[in-house]
Amino acid sequence: MTAQAGQTVKTTCPYCGVGCGVLATPQADGSVTIKGDPDHPANFGRLCSKGSALGETLSLDDRLLYPEVYGRQTGWNEALDLVAEKFSLAVREHGPESVALYVSGQFLTEDYYVANKLMKGFIGSANIDTNSRLCMASSVAGHRRAFGSDTVPGTYEDLELADLIVLTGSNLAWCHPVLYQRIAAAKIARPHMKIVLIDPRQTMTADIADMHLAIKPDGDVALFLGLLAHLSKSNSLDTSYISQHVNGMDHAVAVAAVQTPDDLAIATGLSSDQTSAFFSLFANTSKAVTVYSQGVNQSVCGTDKVNAIINCHLATGRIGKPGTGPFSVTGQPNAMGGREVGGMANMLAAHMDIENAHHRDVVQSFWKSPTIASKQGLKAVDMFKTVADGRIKALWIMATNPVDSMPDADAVEAAIKACPFVVVSDVSDKTDTIRHAHVKLPAAAWGEKDGTVTNSERRISRQRNFLELPGDVRPDWWQLAEVAKRMGFTEAFSYEGPSAVYAEHAALSGIENHGSRDFDISIHEAIAPATYDAMMPFQWPAPKRRVGSGDIRFFAQGNFYTPDRKARAVPVTAPVMRKIDPAFPLTLNTGRVRDHWHTMTRTAKTARLSAHIAEPFCEIHPTDALALDISDASIVKLASPYGSVLVRALVTPRQQRGSVFVPMHWTDQFAAAARVDALVAPVIDPFSGQPASKNAAVSLQPFAAKQYGFAVLASRPEACAADYWALAKSEDGWRIELAFGESLIEPSAFARTLFGATEASELIAYCDANSGQERFAMFDGGKLLGALYLGPAPVEVSRQTAAEELGKIHSDTRARFRVIAGRAGADRPDPGAIVCSCYSVGVNQITSAIRNGNCHSVEAVGELTKAGTNCGSCRSEIRGLIGATVASVAAE
Ligand code: SF4
Repeated sequence: MTAQAGQTVKTTCPYCGVGCGVLATPQADGSVTIKGDPDHPANFGRLCSKGSALGETLSLDDRLLYPEVYGRQTGWNEALDLVAEKFSLAVREHGPESVALYVSGQFLTEDYYVANKLMKGFIGSANIDTNSRLCMASSVAGHRRAFGSDTVPGTYEDLELADLIVLTGSNLAWCHPVLYQRIAAAKIARPHMKIVLIDPRQTMTADIADMHLAIKPDGDVALFLGLLAHLSKSNSLDTSYISQHVNGMDHAVAVAAVQTPDDLAIATGLSSDQTSAFFSLFANTSKAVTVYSQGVNQSVCGTDKVNAIINCHLATGRIGKPGTGPFSVTGQPNAMGGREVGGMANMLAAHMDIENAHHRDVVQSFWKSPTIASKQGLKAVDMFKTVADGRIKALWIMATNPVDSMPDADAVEAAIKACPFVVVSDVSDKTDTIRHAHVKLPAAAWGEKDGTVTNSERRISRQRNFLELPGDVRPDWWQLAEVAKRMGFTEAFSYEGPSAVYAEHAALSGIENHGSRDFDISIHEAIAPATYDAMMPFQWPAPKRRVGSGDIRFFAQGNFYTPDRKARAVPVTAPVMRKIDPAFPLTLNTGRVRDHWHTMTRTAKTARLSAHIAEPFCEIHPTDALALDISDASIVKLASPYGSVLVRALVTPRQQRGSVFVPMHWTDQFAAAARVDALVAPVIDPFSGQPASKNAAVSLQPFAAKQYGFAVLASRPEACAADYWALAKSEDGWRIELAFGESLIEPSAFARTLFGATEASELIAYCDANSGQERFAMFDGGKLLGALYLGPAPVEVSRQTAAEELGKIHSDTRARFRVIAGRAGADRPDPGAIVCSCYSVGVNQITSAIRNGNCHSVEAVGELTKAGTNCGSCRSEIRGLIGATVASVAAE
């Protein structure tokens, strides 16, 4: 089903695990209007900046539209025949373990289901893993150790009902903005609600926190051990719940009690006043939720962190009741759906266990499959190591970009390059991974694909198509099913559409279940295509015949999924802290920024989102910056034993001393050398296999730039011969930041190449020998092709004003010299770096509203400038600017 112009389709946002409902309305001019769905229980009409800009990401620029085989465009038959032949050949000659699928939390559940079925039931290997391994595998492992199942007990409503929310390793303001907005609104409505943020950085989420515990990296296990010991000492344990529903709590408490106050202080870096205040608050607040995400999961002790948190909730019986519970929030839109179908190397379908012979029998007989994988497959890090050592002969990567997102990313790239046969299914033809594919398969994008996703609160929603499939694009599930048929498995993979896949998945969830497994959506085992089309968002469990109370939360009355139906308190100990290597003395933390998503294949298409943070950066504490002779906005080089990057220095006290933060988004498509995962060691949590992406040892030094530059360009440049460059979309073209280790000998030649000059182009130049400033602008008639600003220090040019010149006609000399000047006119002051993406309101405008307009609240700033009045994602930044500006005015 695709939509007519003016017809509104209810779908789901494809970015984070909040899973917001979206109303998409294609317009007659080809654009698509996006609004939040007021009826969707995840967001009730709200959207963040990324969700609001979805309509701007739908262009066909950079799309892969036709299959390609060895660089040649071809039809589906040739491409699919070749994939099936190569995979069959590898299995025949080297066994099923010689092939691998690496998939994605961007997959719809139907894609995931077919991929998992093909690998585990028909090829007979569990070598299917997913980029969700990088995101929440430790939560899965922690849940399974404690609950016997991968169950998120609570719902989003609990975040509004709680009297205490502990946010640990979770920058909700930027990474799950609509949940942040829901919590912020709940705190306004119920001012006694307390929020504790546990994070080494003072992120934007600190804005709503009553207490920020700037913990040392990986100090969380020690902190929650301290909490458990305190709960015991202060008689805050729920002994009745423990005796009825939990095994092993005495032992877990005894192990926690071994930790001394000194151990706690050393591991966390927190004072005893801080830890005591947190412990008392938790002990005295019965309605408490602990929200955690990648800061907990992406660690060598991620699973232990999860269990340390869960232990505290089991110990107090704060689980499964309104306003309580441990709450893992997933990074990706369908990480949960992937878990449901068993789309990871150590899981079977429908939350069944790969090591459980009975479960294997259940799945194999349901699939009527010739085989079933009998042991765990290769988890992501091991999978690419096995590709590197040549044991994987055929690799199919779908909807993900491991050359950028895997730890030790340079080694992963080398492994993929050396693999005998690589298939990449993707939406984009411009990723760092697809450039190494022997076969490229064009996949359906958001708005074109049709299926279901599950959000962090177990809510299944439809992601519906409203656009025609462009070119020869096909959905991922179809690609997998067609290859399966060509490998000889026609009957098992002859699906008429995604609803048939979903119905099969639903039916499997109910087989021999009877309440013995948490995941059950058998109510949909015979769902008709029309019912599937009309499906409303719902939370599982949704069994055909309900067993038990029917409560949508889990575990208030125990009934865990262990053999004796009791939870397991897992005795964990604090990890041995990584020794500081003098050659790499700093700790690198990686993560997201507000307006970009993953490797930017979608968000970099929009000027609005690119304007918030236009280049890769490294946050560094002022004291560390001083010691290393690094000034704000200079270029710095970070290195580890695995690789190096060049990024912009952002000196800020929000960063902890001894630690630095670099975002994960920038790739070779948008920067010279900013693939941050090239720095990250391939070390993993022993239980979950999740890499430690937030605690890598690095060195930092200034990059001795002799010349800096900034340019605006009408067209995307083919290449850029600068040591440092970072490219971002602007409204009418592109903007690029530059730095050079040696000054350009022929800057005009550099400008010509960058601008894509032709014979007819006209170059005007300005040079100030005293200041070292050089400026070039090139025109084709009245059209500005590009402007380049060079200087011995970061150039002071209004980026916004220069970018706006691209959309203007420059027919007279005055207009042309205005470009060279690069300054905003008196009638239109420079807005500065964009804070509010929705209304393009910059930092200078907001500061002016605070200083000159006397706006001392976010609402007042919004009234004057409109900033923060749409999606609200920038409200925490505005609040920060109010605090900083008011303080600076007071000090003047
Ligand atoms: Fe999308 Fe933002 Fe909602 Fe996440 S919070 S699902 S990115 S709109």
